[in-house]
Amino acid sequence: MNPLQPAIDRYTELVGDSPTGVWAGPGRVNLIGEHTDYNDGFVMPFALQHAALVAAGVRDDDQVVVDSLDLSETHTVALDDLTPFDAPDAPERRWSDYLLGCVWALREAGHAVGGVTLVLSSDVPVGAGLSSSAAIECAVVGALCDLFDLDISPMDRAKLARVAENAYVGAPTGLLDQAASTLCTLGHTLFLDCRSLETRQIPIDLAAAGLEILVLDTKTPHSHVDGEYAERRATCERAAAILGVPALRDVDDLGSALRVLAAEADNDRLVKRVRHVVTENDRVLEAIEVADSGDLTKLAPLLDASHASMRDDFEITVPTVDLAVETVRDAGALGARMTGGGFGGCIIALCREGEGEGIGQRVAAAFAEAGFGAPVWFTATPAEGARRLA
Ligand code: ADP
Ligand code: MG
Repeated sequence: MNPLQPAIDRYTELVGDSPTGVWAGPGRVNLIGEHTDYNDGFVMPFALQHAALVAAGVRDDDQVVVDSLDLSETHTVALDDLTPFDAPDAPERRWSDYLLGCVWALREAGHAVGGVTLVLSSDVPVGAGLSSSAAIECAVVGALCDLFDLDISPMDRAKLARVAENAYVGAPTGLLDQAASTLCTLGHTLFLDCRSLETRQIPIDLAAAGLEILVLDTKTPHSHVDGEYAERRATCERAAAILGVPALRDVDDLGSALRVLAAEADNDRLVKRVRHVVTENDRVLEAIEVADSGDLTKLAPLLDASHASMRDDFEITVPTVDLAVETVRDAGALGARMTGGGFGGCIIALCREGEGEGIGQRVAAAFAEAGFGAPVWFTATPAEGARRLA
C-alpha cells in the first residue's frame, strides 16, 4: 500500500475533502559530535528513512485541527487560543503541542498562517533519541510554508521548528535535530558548525564502500537525564569561563587548558569534560577528512574513540549501551558508539553491508543473557531531509 494513504484517508474522513498535499520530516542519527552543540562546536547528523508524514490542508475557519493516526487522537484549538508552555494557565503539554507549536511559532514570527488541518502519521521511533519530535515539527513547518505561500529558507525553517519545541512545548533543545531533519540530503551527512550555522553536505556513499550503519535502540529507560544534562552543560560553561574563552569550541591548546583546570578544586571532573568536548570536535573534523578521502572504513576508529570519550570522560553511557557497543564490535562491526544525549537511547555501528542484521541479533542475545530488555534495530543509510511528497 502507498505509505501516504492512511494519512490521506484520515484527512479525508475528518475534512470531507482530500488534503492539499503530504509533507515529510525525517528522524536523524548523529554520526559523530556529541555534546558539542552547546559548546558552539561541530555535529554531523544524517537523516533516516523513518519519517513523520503530515497530510495537510487549509481550513476556512480559524481552527487548528491536529490528528495523530498513531495515537488515534484529534485535538482542535482556535488560533487565538494557542498557548506556549510558560503562559499563565497554560494547559499541560501533550503530543499535539509539537504541531500546534509550529503554527504558533510561525505566527509569532509574523507569518500569515491561518486555520489548518494536520494529520500526522510517523514511523520514527519515539523517545529513542532519533528525534521523532523534530521530524514532526519539520514536516509541519514544510506544510505550513507551502500551504500559506511563505518564502522561508531551510535554515530559518529549522530555527522556527526549534522555537516550537523550545518556546511552545518547553523542551530546551539545541538546533541539531531540526537542522538535521530540514537540511540533510540523500547520501550525505550534514556538517553543522553550531556557532556560525555554516553547513556542508558531506557525501558518504556507504553502499559503494560495501558498508552500512546499524542503528540499535537499547530501549533503556532514561532516568535523571535532565539533571545530568544540566550538570554537563553547567560544567562546560564554567570550564570555558575559567579558561577565558567564549565556549569550549575556542580551546586551541588542549594540553595547556587541562593544566589550567588541574588547579581547580573539582579538577578531575573539569579535565574530563573538557577533554571530551575538545577531542570530539576534532573527531568531527577528522570525519570530514575521512569522508573526503573516500575510505569510509576509517570512520570506525573515530566512532570507537568517541564512545570511549563519552564513557570515560563525559560519563554519559550506561551498562546497556556499553554492552551493546562491546557486543557489536565482537560480532564484527568495524566501529561503534553511543549516539544521542546519553543515559540510554541508541548506538550506531559501522558494519560491512549485509552484516548489520546479524550483529543486531548478537546484541539481543547478549542482552537476554545479561537480563536486559530486548533491543530493537535497523540498518540505515543517509536519507532525504524534509520535503513535500504529494
Ligand atoms: P525524541 O524526539 O527523541 O523521539 P522527544 O521526547 O523529544 O523524543 O519527543 C517525543 C514526543 O513526540 C512524544 O512523547 C510525543 O509527544 C511526540 N510524538 C512523536 N511521535 C508521535 C506520533 N506519531 N504521534 C503523536 N505524537 C508523537
Ligand atoms: Mg526530540
